[in-house]
Amino acid sequence: VPDLMEADDIETIGVSVVSEFTWKQLLDTDACTMCGRCTAVCPAHATGKPLDPREIVLKTGEIMAATGEHGGVTPPIGADAEITVAADSVFERITHEELWACTTCKACDENCPVNIEILDKILDMRRYLTLMESEFPAELGGAFRGMENNANPWNLNNGERADWADGLDVEVVNADDPFDHEYLYWVGCAGSFDDKNRRVSVATAKLLRRAGVDFAILGPGENCTGDSARRSGNEYLFQMLAAENIAALNGMGVRKIITQCPHCFNTLRNEYPQYGGNWEVIHHAQFLEQLVADGRLDLSEARLDERVVYHDSCYLGRHNDVYLAPRNVIGSLGGVEIVEAPRNGTKGMCCGAGGARMWMEETIGTKVNDERSRELLDTGADRIATACPFCFIMIDDGVKGHGVEDDEVKVADISIHLIDALEAADD
Ligand code: SF4
Ligand code: SF4
Repeated sequence: VPDLMEADDIETIGVSVVSEFTWKQLLDTDACTMCGRCTAVCPAHATGKPLDPREIVLKTGEIMAATGEHGGVTPPIGADAEITVAADSVFERITHEELWACTTCKACDENCPVNIEILDKILDMRRYLTLMESEFPAELGGAFRGMENNANPWNLNNGERADWADGLDVEVVNADDPFDHEYLYWVGCAGSFDDKNRRVSVATAKLLRRAGVDFAILGPGENCTGDSARRSGNEYLFQMLAAENIAALNGMGVRKIITQCPHCFNTLRNEYPQYGGNWEVIHHAQFLEQLVADGRLDLSEARLDERVVYHDSCYLGRHNDVYLAPRNVIGSLGGVEIVEAPRNGTKGMCCGAGGARMWMEETIGTKVNDERSRELLDTGADRIATACPFCFIMIDDGVKGHGVEDDEVKVADISIHLIDALEAADD
């Protein structure tokens, strides 16, 4: 994706015609064996949405075959050789509804036996729709305005970012001052503004304090990382937020960042380096795992005599290969029995909120979070552990939607389960 803050000669962005895909993306369409493994693991498809990832690949191949300039391009196996399309526009065959149904969970890419990348094609087409045609679900407009005007998709007053820390021994630093702590705790928008996730921030801060970690937060100096903007095609907004955050963090001399949000983690760690942001970024699941292993976080008295199931976050798991750390954190409590949902690890089922789906209505088919919550409840767990603010919101809503309240099955981030056990041991 070009640097939109620098370039001034860009005529179009994203993909609307097949020739705008890279040669690798087009070669993918020829490599597809039509095995359907991508479709079998797609949460959108499983819940009755119009998206079928295999069809995204095959339809792209069909348009290429029907309109290719140089002739001799055969259609993908199984496609109708006589197919006719009026133009090489991808939207001749691929509908907007298909593209907006994607949660960007990456299960399709992860499970494809020939390494076809489907998600990047979907994002390229979303980018075109949003930036070139202003064609996006109306509900996204509110999140875009929030990120633009208040630096958070909730569109709440960014000056209140640190309110969750009132009364706690947490230092809020000024983004104009040099940073003289070991770690910056990047709280994220959900951890700052969403009621459920503010409890995660409190629990995480308490755990860091107990372990004697030298950290501070940015409070109002922190802006949304722009993950939802990028996943919904608003690349311009993403790069604008990235530029502001990178300038602030580099100006302060920050070197190490802890974050509880896998979306912030993925953006800060994997995407900001392209724009000059290079720091050591660690997710709180990994950091807590280290603190326990090093003996800095003493859990020797903490017990949880309960059955716990961990719900894999797509952006921690498939996007960043972190599967064991959150399980190890919970598993280090005495008395815990860890159980697994049928779909776990690389095949874990999305909560339904990724890819900016958090901000869109879900009106077609059944709800992804209902289906996933049912599966988690069926494990017979007393607690469900999450390690992502969006997963926490979606799974908690899903479980309560099934009529199950906190006193029966408690859904919470790993940090809350940990602090529950530690504080019970303190009493
Ligand atoms: S990323 Fe997930 S939701 Fe999107 S097409 Fe692939 S499997 Fe389906
Ligand atoms: S998993 Fe890969 S090879 Fe199989 S249908 Fe999907 S894209 Fe094609």
